[in-house]
Amino acid sequence: MSAAAIQPANIPSSPIDEIAPLVARLRQTFETGRTKPLAWRRAQLEALIRFAKENSDALVEALQADMGKPELEARAADIGQITQEAKLALKNLKKWTRPQSAGRIPFMGKSFVIRDPLGVVLIVAPWNYPVGLLLSPLVGAIAAGNAVVLKPSEVTAHTSAILAELLPKYLDTDAIALVEGGVPETTALLEQRFDHIMYTGNGSVAKVVMAAATKHLTPVTLELGGKSPCIVDRTADIPVTARRIAWGKFMNAGQTCIAPDYVLADDSIEEELIRELKKSVEEFYGGETKNNADYTRIVNGRHHERLSKLMVGQDIAFGGATEAEGCYIEPTVLRNVSPDSPIMEGEIFGPVLPVLRIKGLTEAIEFVNRGEKPLALYLFSNDSTAEKRVLSETSSGGACINGTIMHIGNSKMPFGGVGPSGMGAYHGQHSFETFSHRKAVLRRGFKFDLKMMYPPYTKARTNFVKKVM
Ligand code: NAD
Repeated sequence: MSAAAIQPANIPSSPIDEIAPLVARLRQTFETGRTKPLAWRRAQLEALIRFAKENSDALVEALQADMGKPELEARAADIGQITQEAKLALKNLKKWTRPQSAGRIPFMGKSFVIRDPLGVVLIVAPWNYPVGLLLSPLVGAIAAGNAVVLKPSEVTAHTSAILAELLPKYLDTDAIALVEGGVPETTALLEQRFDHIMYTGNGSVAKVVMAAATKHLTPVTLELGGKSPCIVDRTADIPVTARRIAWGKFMNAGQTCIAPDYVLADDSIEEELIRELKKSVEEFYGGETKNNADYTRIVNGRHHERLSKLMVGQDIAFGGATEAEGCYIEPTVLRNVSPDSPIMEGEIFGPVLPVLRIKGLTEAIEFVNRGEKPLALYLFSNDSTAEKRVLSETSSGGACINGTIMHIGNSKMPFGGVGPSGMGAYHGQHSFETFSHRKAVLRRGFKFDLKMMYPPYTKARTNFVKKVM
């Protein structure tokens, strides 16, 4: 089957002068209390599931027009996030929203924590999984009882357009709105007062978002990226390791925030690993990726050019073909990569995998720790001491032992970065918590009122406090 052809599209935009009135309207709705009842939250979550189900073909088509996403990846890794998260929220909504007992304090009363919605929240999403990364946070925001403004990425314009057209047919438009556009529209949005902002994307724009949020002291969740390392030691099963690395790296043509960015391979297995990586790519794509429907395109010419430049002068172990028309880059593995080369500077975010030789685990750990804290860290090893050392001696948003990407699939685990790879986390109950305020409440009775705590603070009372505290 041949690859879906990427189709040009105009940059979508919503009228900028309508943004302030729109946010004001959502705030008005929130203030009426309409989004708080569990019945409203349930109805929106059910509508979201219906939206995903009834429009999955149209969404797949849009994703293919934007970046040639394979249908299976579009359904499983992008659109599928919505249904999975919404079903989980529906199942647990009552439990998550129940006041949580914090025990009884002698002479004081009963304590409990209740989850309050925050108000009007803004969700800004990127282009690489443009459906899931916009609507999976929406599930948490709805479950917590908020009004929401959604801002999809303008880079994937077909997907943005279809979301803008279809979502309002399912959701309560007085409480949930979508604004299309790029920098001018997002800038106008960021001038408004929100009660929380969740931004997924690159670190430079995250600084713009955070700076804008300071004006209103708005809390932010930042889901960013970075160079996620993949350490392979001499005890790893190399054919399985290679298959799992190739899958995580070349899915979505490497345009995944937790894709393995580079490999640190033990000296003794480096050659075998590269051989097996090549074999895996051949098995996956039958030796033909250019016209292969299972292989994604680079999202646009700018990123294609950036990635092509990163390969110049490198020792290509296999792959390396690029074609500007159709934004194609072949799955590529580089060897003998210098740690000082441009490809080792920023996040690659494409199907190019540098393999660096290391002599033992200590060198690998030191290498990782010289860089910024990554979003994900992968270790392939059969040695439990190596696992303990890597987990305790490095810091990363998440980690996966003997696998790539799959740790994101367990909604019970928080998904998020640390340091430059992000702040805050979401998925499952963690999304609900992100969009809730934990209000601490103490309930006292009238019967028992300890007089000695009130002034006048006599000597005897002070001595008593001295004794007990
Ligand atoms: P992008 O270009 O689509 O930008 C993200 C959003 O920011 C868009 O909605 C865009 O309109 C907006 N934006 C862009 N420039 C802006 C500006 N100057 N002011 C205000 N808003 C602006 O996507 P991207 O940043 O290229 O996304 C790729 C990055 O996202 C990678 O670094 C990747 O690792 C990261 N990412 C992280 C996660 C995660 O969950 N942690 C998931 C996906 C992608």
